[in-house]
Amino acid sequence: MLRQYELVERVRDYDPDADEDLINRAYVYSVKMHGSQKRASGDPYFSHPIEVAGLMTDLKLDQQTIVTALLHDTVEDTLTTIEEIEKLFGKEIARLVDGVTKLSKIEAQTEDERAAENLRKFLLALSDDIRVLLVKLADRLHNMRTLHFIKNEAKRRRIAGETLDIYAPLAERIGMYEYMREMQLLAFRHLEPEAYETITARLQQIKEGDDGQLDKIAGSLSQALTNAGLSAEVTGREKHPYSIWKKMQERHVSFEALTDIMAFRVVTENRAECYRALGILHDKWKMVPGRFKDYISTPKRNGYRSMHTTIMHENNMRVEIQIRSERMHQDNEFGLAAHWSYKQGNQPDGQAGWIRDLIEILDHAEDAEELLEHTKLAMYQDRIFAFTPKGTLLQLPKGSTTVDFAYAVHTDLGNQAVGAKVNGRHVPLRTQLTNGDVVEVLRSEGQEPQPGWLSFVITGKARAAIRRFVRHKERDEIIEIGTKLYEEIIERLPGKIGKRAQKAALKRLNVKEEEDLMMAIGTRDISDREVMEALMPGSVNDNDEDWSWPEQGSAISIKGLTPGVAFDLAECCHPVPGDRIVGLRRSGENVEVHAIDCFKLADGVDADWVDLSWGKDSDGAAARLAVVLHDKPGTLAEMAGIFGFHNSNILRLRMTNRDAPFHTFEVDLEVHNVHHLMRILSALRSSDAVAQAERL
Ligand code: MN
Repeated sequence: MLRQYELVERVRDYDPDADEDLINRAYVYSVKMHGSQKRASGDPYFSHPIEVAGLMTDLKLDQQTIVTALLHDTVEDTLTTIEEIEKLFGKEIARLVDGVTKLSKIEAQTEDERAAENLRKFLLALSDDIRVLLVKLADRLHNMRTLHFIKNEAKRRRIAGETLDIYAPLAERIGMYEYMREMQLLAFRHLEPEAYETITARLQQIKEGDDGQLDKIAGSLSQALTNAGLSAEVTGREKHPYSIWKKMQERHVSFEALTDIMAFRVVTENRAECYRALGILHDKWKMVPGRFKDYISTPKRNGYRSMHTTIMHENNMRVEIQIRSERMHQDNEFGLAAHWSYKQGNQPDGQAGWIRDLIEILDHAEDAEELLEHTKLAMYQDRIFAFTPKGTLLQLPKGSTTVDFAYAVHTDLGNQAVGAKVNGRHVPLRTQLTNGDVVEVLRSEGQEPQPGWLSFVITGKARAAIRRFVRHKERDEIIEIGTKLYEEIIERLPGKIGKRAQKAALKRLNVKEEEDLMMAIGTRDISDREVMEALMPGSVNDNDEDWSWPEQGSAISIKGLTPGVAFDLAECCHPVPGDRIVGLRRSGENVEVHAIDCFKLADGVDADWVDLSWGKDSDGAAARLAVVLHDKPGTLAEMAGIFGFHNSNILRLRMTNRDAPFHTFEVDLEVHNVHHLMRILSALRSSDAVAQAERL
């Protein structure tokens, strides 16, 4: 265990201005608060925070981070409070300790709760202060180093699994490869003890039996560089047991079949010499195509810089080589943490720049579409993070709604969305999400995306899916209406026709499939007369434009079709179920449905007319009323009460005239059919509040 003066010395080594007294006080306080608590190893508990603080000094972190490491378990595990910490050590340290405490609390939760909370808190903590994450990673690393002391196997496995799933990837993403590798190795040992033993034993065998092959290859690389006048340090190592095991899993191969269990590293003095070294090695040995990567000219997003190449060494042996400068090598092992030295805190852009980098690293695009969307939104303040109830984190552009969220989870979920809960509360689908929201999308199998959603969704994925659906539906419905029209055209022919004549008609009309013909009829790209002529040449008498209306019963039913998709209800007369209706068809347009007594029909001479019916038990439609109310308190409420009593929904309400002693309102109402509308009108007319009620 690190002694008090040793810890202080370590910090003062890289930061001569460090507040010695502050570190001493924190050290003593931690020892005092943890008192006689013991670790599973039997060591006093306070040895743990002190070791974590030691790990932080390896990264040359500032004194606030060192103190936070010392205090990181006091709030969680002792009687002290955050308020107490703030009183003794100040606001900044209290905030950092609180951040670590919050992360630790998550670990104590059940798997399900944790999933959601975990990521969220991580993220919030991260956007708050990177040092919280660094202390947490060191805390976990130390706990992993002492994991074998824990007797309960299930607990050991759980901690190891969590380390592998959450902490090692986090360490990797911020470029802390040292931490990542050690965490992986330790977790692997506890999760797959047999595989660990076998692979370690095999590596040992190779080491003993290969007659120093590792050294031989390293020597030959070094020799080649020296001969060319370049001094560089060449080291060789067997790969990490965990990465070997992972490769065996991924490639489904045995240990023997792995060609790349050795890796070599060339460390040069500076950047220019990296390229020289590469040239020398590629000149002497053949490079394996497709394996060369230059992370020096284009560093990884976590700051990692190195060149990777694989060459064909003697006996066609593939040898992996990493080339980097001394400076890069140091930075690489601790990633972004290497840049976050005690000095950086004072720089104006220190913390902010850090967080920007980090969020960028945490963010990884899943697929090409997402990537595209993200590159368009390079600025991170333009996005929000939201969670599924199971805790999956989704990243969306700012302004995204619950529908965007639903589509981001899955197209089916978006298509079947009927409602949403945000943080447990029911909200309208158009609700915009904010950072950290937990979003539950309510779905219903029979539901379909609504064309109206296009007015508020903002993600490309949602937009495309809704459009695709609307287009499909439109096609289906146009084909349906076209088919009905086609059947009616056949009725109008002077004689019966068979299947063969219908096939021949397709050819004459130059359409491939029957469906295409129905489409063309539905949108009137082909007129009825053309269809008749194709089916039965000579059946259209040019001098006789008129034909008699078919019988009432033969009117085409629009039941089940959606207004606004294949047909439109005319704005002028607002036909409702029960009205006798007629359709106007113009080329390339939706069928326009009018009430038979609509004066606008007079303008329809250029269109084809088609007799329509609502079909039996049609669903409701909208009717527009003009209601004149007496200018007295409560009359509006009375009118609304009448609509409510008759189970009719108000779609729109507008005051069109206020001319004492009367108010005139225009109301769009949802009604089931014409009888329903009549009942409402008579109820209105018999009310004292209403002076006049008229359908528009
Ligand atoms: Mn701890």
